Amino acid sequence: MRVLLYAALFAILYLALKRWSGTPRRRARLLTTRMVRCAYCGVHVPEGEAIGEGPRFFCSPEHRRIALPPGV
Ligand SMILES: [Zn+2]
Repeated sequence: MRVLLYAALFAILYLALKRWSGTPRRRARLLTTRMVRCAYCGVHVPEGEAIGEGPRFFCSPEHRRIALPPGV
């Protein structure tokens, strides 16, 4: 019976560690990759991949070109 007890303890510890180690990483990813909305098509892109134009963001150079008049 002792073996079963150890097995159960190990399983609980393993699950607790797994949950504990997985949560902060998920939280960190949510904090680091802020999603911004394309001002032209409304698609959400990570801020790092978006093209910022003042307060607005675009998903691609094409949408930036279409949405903003040339020369501005
Ligand atoms: Zn777009």
